[in-house]
Amino acid sequence: MDRYSRITEKNPREIVLLRGSGCKWRRCRFCDYHLDFSSDEKANYRLNKQVLGQVEGIYSSLEVINSGSFCDLDEESIGEILQVCKDKTISRIHLECHWRDRETLSQFRSFFGEHGIQVTVKMGVETFDEVFRDGVLQKGMDHVKPQEIARYADEVCLLFGLTGQSEASMIKDMETGLAFFNRVCVNLMTKNTSRMEPDPVVLDIFKDRIYPKYSADSRVDILLENTDFGVGGESRHE
Ligand code: SF4
Repeated sequence: MDRYSRITEKNPREIVLLRGSGCKWRRCRFCDYHLDFSSDEKANYRLNKQVLGQVEGIYSSLEVINSGSFCDLDEESIGEILQVCKDKTISRIHLECHWRDRETLSQFRSFFGEHGIQVTVKMGVETFDEVFRDGVLQKGMDHVKPQEIARYADEVCLLFGLTGQSEASMIKDMETGLAFFNRVCVNLMTKNTSRMEPDPVVLDIFKDRIYPKYSADSRVDILLENTDFGVGGESRHE
């Protein structure tokens, strides 16, 4: 599995896929990304140190992703991230967090902020339709509204290509995401080992009618394949 890449367009940054103790929720019906974990902290640290060793700092911006939330990384790995940021003069770090771990974010904003590194938080929301999100997808976000999510997250991930979604619902999600957050990242559902299947009709609607409308928007990343950021190889959405 590739764990290091560079995103050269729109918001250029280096990206690393690290490994932690894993998502604690593990119930989202569309997801098998939570399988990328190990309870062996030392092994995780060795792997993460090797991956972080590839970072060059060329964009002064680094995205760190891992199955689950940033707080699922071990302390030594988090220390290594800080060291790499200092060594490579990286001034912005992007990290991911599940809603249920939101209260851990202020400590990470402070921890990196003390060293002049700005933290940008991306949260997997998948859709702003709370009934669909927390009822059908079992995302575990307590039917929370976008205003409340925006108190914690700067950016959101949306997931399209699911039975039940429509052109209108996807546009509503995009517009809500752009209204409340700095950036929106769209993942398209792909076949994985979870119980949910991609819906080809919804995917075609997205590609024909939604993608052309937003593909040039500098605030929107669209991952037509879940490896489009150059990391992973398994399904991943946080
Ligand atoms: S989508 Fe995120 S929160 Fe949900 S099970 Fe997968 S890793 Fe966990």
